[in-house]
Amino acid sequence: MLSRFYSYITARDLQNEMRGLSNYLLSCCVNTLLQTLSATWELSGLLERWDSAGVRADSHNVPLELKKVLSAMKSDHRHNTPHRDFLNCLDRNNFRLCVQHDADEVFLSILNFMQQQMDDKALALEIQKLYKVSVETRLQCLECSCIQTQTSFQLSLHLHVKEDHNSLEGCISSFLEDQELRGRDCCFCAQCERKTPSKRDVKLLSLPRILCMHLKRYRSSRGGIRKLDCRVTFPETFDFSEIARGGFSRDFAQVSWERVQGTYGKYYGGTAYMLMYRRSSKEEGRQPEFSG
Ligand SMILES: [Zn+2]
Repeated sequence: MLSRFYSYITARDLQNEMRGLSNYLLSCCVNTLLQTLSATWELSGLLERWDSAGVRADSHNVPLELKKVLSAMKSDHRHNTPHRDFLNCLDRNNFRLCVQHDADEVFLSILNFMQQQMDDKALALEIQKLYKVSVETRLQCLECSCIQTQTSFQLSLHLHVKEDHNSLEGCISSFLEDQELRGRDCCFCAQCERKTPSKRDVKLLSLPRILCMHLKRYRSSRGGIRKLDCRVTFPETFDFSEIARGGFSRDFAQVSWERVQGTYGKYYGGTAYMLMYRRSSKEEGRQPEFSG
């Protein structure tokens, strides 16, 4: 199996210093995402290639406003609210900032707006490809043994978080583990012509340049939503193929990394909901398979 190294995207990836962004209504989640997107030079590079001259300047175009804000965050350091037009643009597209959003929801909505609103469809697909994970899901009916295979893609991996202590490596391993689906999780079997218990296994067919992982810290409980503030540790650098094999990865401690560790949760101030990692450039072009 080929190795696949990923590094956590931090402010160190910015060529310029990190920009503080003022909070408007409940925009803190969008602000945090903007910081991560501005550290993703691959995305800014693609947006800069976009010839947006033909786009109607009516401030409704999310990718156009994103292009502007990412550029302003890099260059104009006197302007302390470079993101205000972008926030207003989201609002005009019915993405309300008076409502609390999940980081993953904001991220997927922005990617969705790019697909809908960019006139250069080839470039919009290139942006999507930056984050695209190809997934093969195999469902085996436990009554007739019939197998259904489905290939799909995801723009972020949705990782289940346990009630107690977690590590990102553990969350990924659980995601890849075979699961038995019973009770209300039963799936429709075409051969049995009804919902039956089944075994599900997930295989990752390809991993993207930027790997986004969403930690599912909210859980439905007695008709409401409960937040899991348990600790989830995550490494600065990891080898995906080692995790897929069930091994644990090396952790390179650095001073700035200690600050990032403050978002593990529980015993520290913040809690991370979404993690973005960049694939090491020497790994480009390889397409391994990972499964449980
Ligand atoms: Zn069956």
